[in-house]
Amino acid sequence: MIKRFIRRVLGLESPGPQRLPQSRHGIRRSSISAGALKVCDVLANHGHAAYVVGGAVRDLVLGITPKDFDIATDARPEQIKPLFRRALLIGRRFRLVHVMLGPETLEVSTFRAADNHVSQKDEHGRVLRDNVFGTMEEDARRRDFTVNALYYDCRSGEIIDFHGGLADLKRRTMRIIGDPETRFREDPVRMLRAVRLGAKLGLSIDNSTRVPIKRLAPLLEHVPPPRLFEEMLKLLLSGHASAALRQLRNEGLHKGMLPLLDVILDQPLGERFVTLALAQTDERVLSDRPVSPAFLFASLLWHEVLAAWKGREKHGERRVPALEAAMDEVLDAQSGKLAITRRLTATMREVWAMQPRFEERSGQRPFRLLESPRFRMAYDFLALRAASGEVPAEIESWWRAFQGADAETRHAMLLPDTGPRKKRRRRRRKQSAAAVPTAPE
Ligand code: ATP
Ligand code: MG
Repeated sequence: MIKRFIRRVLGLESPGPQRLPQSRHGIRRSSISAGALKVCDVLANHGHAAYVVGGAVRDLVLGITPKDFDIATDARPEQIKPLFRRALLIGRRFRLVHVMLGPETLEVSTFRAADNHVSQKDEHGRVLRDNVFGTMEEDARRRDFTVNALYYDCRSGEIIDFHGGLADLKRRTMRIIGDPETRFREDPVRMLRAVRLGAKLGLSIDNSTRVPIKRLAPLLEHVPPPRLFEEMLKLLLSGHASAALRQLRNEGLHKGMLPLLDVILDQPLGERFVTLALAQTDERVLSDRPVSPAFLFASLLWHEVLAAWKGREKHGERRVPALEAAMDEVLDAQSGKLAITRRLTATMREVWAMQPRFEERSGQRPFRLLESPRFRMAYDFLALRAASGEVPAEIESWWRAFQGADAETRHAMLLPDTGPRKKRRRRRRKQSAAAVPTAPE
């Protein structure tokens, strides 16, 4: 009895599942995607248990349209695959099945156990492998938060709830399943998920779940950089990046993600710049407009680049080489922690490197800049710099007008060329000017 009570208090044993009818959770069958209903139906017809699970159930209870539908079943991957015409076995670590039905791809996974005796852990308690199939109850226990461990039964319309997730949702609380410290040690990314999902869903993190986070935040250093990058990207593109980053800061989690971000946020200009960038991103995501991850990371790291650049200039380095070296420095420091992909860093570099060129508003240079494939992104970046007070607003408004003007007005807008160096260059370029029909001198 006592043993059982202790196990229950420690979260090692759940109080047993509750079956909650539609009147308690409010999800209508019609809000489940056709593909998800079909997959559950086919599996059930072959004698398997199958449920919609995870984020989709949670979002539907909250009245949010889910991004995608995941299915959990007691069928093994090799039993699932032959039941569907277009299905792929994927994943090395956890094998699961992707079922393609019309425009939908459904992720179908077999109930999994997180058996603490079987799974391999590193010296900090991080789980390296846990690839054991299990019962539905075990599957619920290995999930991260109670609100993510709800199973929707498409046939009966009931939710099966092992950990009081529905009550937590109604209380608008995120609570980790089991002992918080152990669960965060097993997978430190859960700390970031708590913040991201909390910000996205407007849920607060339950106190007992929240308290150990500050102390355990350094564990993020042991998470492989590509995984951190993926999670950070999800957070930044969630449409709630501003709230999430504020929360990351409150919980002391930002240090492991973007080194020096705390320093930047403490400078008034840096804070204003990052805040504006995130607010703009959230606005775009929420209105379904495209967002460039490269632009976002370029914004988050800009004030680091700026500080390194100015420092080098102060020590006598020339303007453009100093900027190049500052970019290398910042990206090198970053890559150890957060594996920003090469494709992104190439674009980030272009956007940064174009910034000093906006100061040149005479001769051929503005025309050349305008023709660059990255002009729009670089200009948007300039606009953020101007809005944060880092560069004079007049430069941004000049470029705004210049883009929209006809050829004649553009020429009239050019500033007089000054300085002996620039004059020399101008003479050289005169010869090639004929090749640029839109911008004759
Ligand atoms: P969203 O898709 O809205 O970002 P989600 O909760 O669906 O949120 P996914 O990454 O799609 O997030 O994960 C699906 C489900 O898998 C979760 O709801 C949760 O039950 C489980 N899960 C995901 N990541 C973890 C983790 N790190 N530890 C334990 N369970 C997890
Ligand atoms: Mg999901």
